[in-house]
Amino acid sequence: MGRYIGPVCRLCRREGVKLFLKGTRCNSGKCAIDRQRGIPGMHKLRRSKASEYAVRLREKQKVKRYYGIFERQFRNYYDEATRRPGNSGAALLALIERRLDNVVTRLGFAQSRKQARQLITHGHFQVNGRKLDIPSYLVRPGDTIKVKDREASKKLAEHVLVHESGPAIPSWLDRLGTEPPEGRVSRLPGSEDLSGEFNAQLIIELLSR
Ligand code: SF4
Repeated sequence: MGRYIGPVCRLCRREGVKLFLKGTRCNSGKCAIDRQRGIPGMHKLRRSKASEYAVRLREKQKVKRYYGIFERQFRNYYDEATRRPGNSGAALLALIERRLDNVVTRLGFAQSRKQARQLITHGHFQVNGRKLDIPSYLVRPGDTIKVKDREASKKLAEHVLVHESGPAIPSWLDRLGTEPPEGRVSRLPGSEDLSGEFNAQLIIELLSR
């Protein structure tokens, strides 16, 4: 199945939470969730109480939509997380949090993960001084992420760079500069560093059935 290209606010309305898929609009008064628009579709009033399975499924969909990842990729992260010692749910979310498209967004170099993915695949970013166009690359401590030192990339970055007063940068990342935009991964993210509020245990229960 291909990537969803329909109206993204519908995804937030379906999950009933803000998934921050539209950059600055998400923090403006135009957000569909803030305006309390309910579940999309004609038959929303007929829905009965969600089953246990549905609750777990929705939690998984929420994470997939928030980070913009496919089912197959998500399963791979799950397999990797369950091979690690300790809490698999926390390991799953920490793994996904390390994706390059998420890191670029959290450093404020793009306004949404979708925009970050596009900038990365178009070759506007360097990791450790080398061009890297794979949004799913998992960053490691010590990695530096920088906008390519060429006019087109820097110009583009000026348009999408989130203002200093934007969302705070998490403590596992450092912003080194904005001309050109550059950041560094100081350590691996812990459960307290995750961007969204998800119940990873529900997802593990769903996938381990
Ligand atoms: Fe979701 Fe952003 Fe649309 Fe609000 S504006 S519904 S957070 S995508």
